[in-house]
Amino acid sequence: MATVTRTSLLPAVEAFLAHEPLGLWIGGRSVAASSGQTLTTLDPGTGEPLARFADATAEDVDRAVASARDAFRQSEWARLPVNERSAKLHRFADAVESHRNELAQLESLDCGKILSQAEGDVDNFVQTLRYYADLAMHVQPRTVLAVRGHDAWTVRHPWGPCGFIIPWNFPFLLLGWGIAPALAAGNTVVVKPAEDTPLSTLFVARIAQQAGIPDGVINVVPGRGETAGAALSGHPGLKRMSFTGSPEVGRLVAEACGRNLVPVKCELGGKGAAVVFDDVDIPTTAQRLVEAITFHTGQVCCDATRWLVHEAIYDEFVEQCAERLRQVRVGHQMDSESQMGPVVNAKQQARVLSYLDKGVRGGAKLVLEGGRCDVPGNDGGFYVRPALLAGPLDNIAAREEIFGPVAYLGRFRNEAEAVALANDTDYGLANSVWTADLARAQRVAEAFDAGNGWINAHNVIVHGVPYAGVNKSGMGGGVLSPETLFDYWRSISVVRPLD
Ligand code: NAD
Repeated sequence: MATVTRTSLLPAVEAFLAHEPLGLWIGGRSVAASSGQTLTTLDPGTGEPLARFADATAEDVDRAVASARDAFRQSEWARLPVNERSAKLHRFADAVESHRNELAQLESLDCGKILSQAEGDVDNFVQTLRYYADLAMHVQPRTVLAVRGHDAWTVRHPWGPCGFIIPWNFPFLLLGWGIAPALAAGNTVVVKPAEDTPLSTLFVARIAQQAGIPDGVINVVPGRGETAGAALSGHPGLKRMSFTGSPEVGRLVAEACGRNLVPVKCELGGKGAAVVFDDVDIPTTAQRLVEAITFHTGQVCCDATRWLVHEAIYDEFVEQCAERLRQVRVGHQMDSESQMGPVVNAKQQARVLSYLDKGVRGGAKLVLEGGRCDVPGNDGGFYVRPALLAGPLDNIAAREEIFGPVAYLGRFRNEAEAVALANDTDYGLANSVWTADLARAQRVAEAFDAGNGWINAHNVIVHGVPYAGVNKSGMGGGVLSPETLFDYWRSISVVRPLD
């Protein structure tokens, strides 16, 4: 179906996109939606169709959960000795690595991500698989309990079928963060990718099969949120659920899981602050924050979107940021000259523009205008320019998540005021503090009312360091840490009285 020029696409990517349509992936097979309906995913850089794919119904979700349940009960996966399961996950990681370029092209095309960033996401997926495959081998499944008069221990088992609902901004990287610990612990999974970005998930399901992951262990049900997503989050056959996306949908998913008493993890939005003190190297700090806000066109949940700057350096800092943002080359995500690609779709483009408008109507000043951006040769693409707003911090553009290359500037006079302003938000995902004084950096980072506090850097994600949000940014324990692996085991206590 594709009409975009794809001279540079790899043959395997061409072949994959030529499927008409791409099916759901259930029990190791590509199958049509029960309704026969399809959706179309677009290239955000051109606005043109990329591929058609099956639009899963509630009935299809039911089939996928049944497949995950059967694989859990009947395949070897859950009962494999942990070293054998880990070896299989390493083989899966090897296979993903060998398809790195295809996966990166699909991801870049599908979500509008700069190609080199998509390559980084594939590498991250591989690292996540390897991290949890190795970690699982170092956990004792049995813990002996020293209690008077009893022989007692606990033993860990995988739960069974686990559900994952993924957003469109990091489809492949977040798939890894979600399913790697679940698989390493011996569970089976059903994944609902976002309707804008199903391609890398459908592609990697085939790679998993070729790498020897048993059929039914990984199932994929692309489709709309209000149908496939709602059916998955309300499915009584799931044992655990993980949702990454907006707080509004997170509430719906958590409610649906609550009705079935299914434990749920929610990784939600953010409105992070960068607190910049007057002892920083101004050009370096300005450059780093410009890189952060333009990274994936600002569609990053943990981004710094409120820049709180000490009044002594405010004017110079803002001028340096604006100058750098003016130079950012906006272009098609597969063009090696581009520094910033499009946003994901027309709705997101309209959202960014509307927040600029609402912000200004609410009293903010446009320090850097931003707005719609034309990229020659890509007329239908969803492009915006970076923008800077400044003014009172109760402005709607300073309080709500915009999810675009827009930062809101505020000034502070001292440390206490800086911390109070950073914490004056409904969200609580990630903030950063920028200063040459490391004692102050530690004090401020620890005082943030958020899941993550970063020092002299932003968007710092490390395997082994818990990544989670508080308040409107999330609940349920977070991801990427050793604890995440334990979330995917249930524990049974076994006791024998000794008299
Ligand atoms: P979204 O909430 O609109 O959609 C996320 C997923 O939920 C999609 O797969 C969608 O189809 C599905 N969905 C929609 N309605 C549903 C329903 N009624 N029931 C079940 N599922 C439904 O979010 P989005 O626009 O795709 O992503 C952007 C949001 O994700 C932002 O708020 C961003 O901050 C957040 N996010 C958070 C993290 C994190 O780790 N904290 C990471 C990435 C993105």
